[in-house]
Amino acid sequence: MMPVLRGMAAAVALAGTALARRQPSPAPLVNQVVPQPASNPHAPECRFSDAPVVLKQSGNAILQVWTVNDSESLSSALLPVDGAFLEYRRTLERAGADRLRPVADQPQPANESEREMWSREKRNEELAYSGRAGVVRPVRCLDALLFAYQNARYPQLSHPTEFIASILRQTIDGKPVLRIYFAASDALFPSKDYYGFEDIKKEISAGWEFWAMLHNHTIQRNNGAPALGVPALSSSDVDLLRSLAQSVALQNAWITNGFYTIVLPVAALDQYLGRP
Ligand SMILES: [Zn+2]
Repeated sequence: MMPVLRGMAAAVALAGTALARRQPSPAPLVNQVVPQPASNPHAPECRFSDAPVVLKQSGNAILQVWTVNDSESLSSALLPVDGAFLEYRRTLERAGADRLRPVADQPQPANESEREMWSREKRNEELAYSGRAGVVRPVRCLDALLFAYQNARYPQLSHPTEFIASILRQTIDGKPVLRIYFAASDALFPSKDYYGFEDIKKEISAGWEFWAMLHNHTIQRNNGAPALGVPALSSSDVDLLRSLAQSVALQNAWITNGFYTIVLPVAALDQYLGRP
């Protein structure tokens, strides 16, 4: 947070009196509470056209796939009508935690290697919010649907978990179709055995393109209150996404917290830091 404030202070000092005579600039989005626009309602049009097919299941771990028509609704600002998702959003709004840039308890690194890792996470976060390597935007229907799906299985406020969704795209009979592999469990991270990358390799050979990989960064704490996960790439994410860009021509990376999603093309991964 400090480098941002220093940067703002320096900009104001440089701008001098000319700026002071104009109307004050709008506050920067960073660290402000940004309500969803009024035109961003929960609406029944935000839904998948077909039910998922379960490919693999063991206990609470699943790998399933939706094959659905890509519609304007899916890329719109509409949000799904989903009681658990509404409750999640309302709880965070009431706590004042619906921030574009979440504020959470600082990690306490136990040794030099953890300190180096957290320093990389921080630099990746700064880059994500700089606008130079991706955009953090309000959640849209498709990312919200997938977040809401996992939140309905395990409410994120009481049972934080991450899901991995691989979103493939192809035009079939002149119509855009999405095929979405979804991996999740009741553990914080699903086992890699459920990611479905072997199936996805075959899909790519059969003509699908790997449009985007989406996963969520789940809830954090801020002085005992809930805080959103940061929608920015962790160093582990960077390593995984780079390898998918190479091996299966992944095109885009998305990370959501149910309020905001960062979207970036894989070319922007060059600017991020992987694990030490
Ligand atoms: Zn991640």
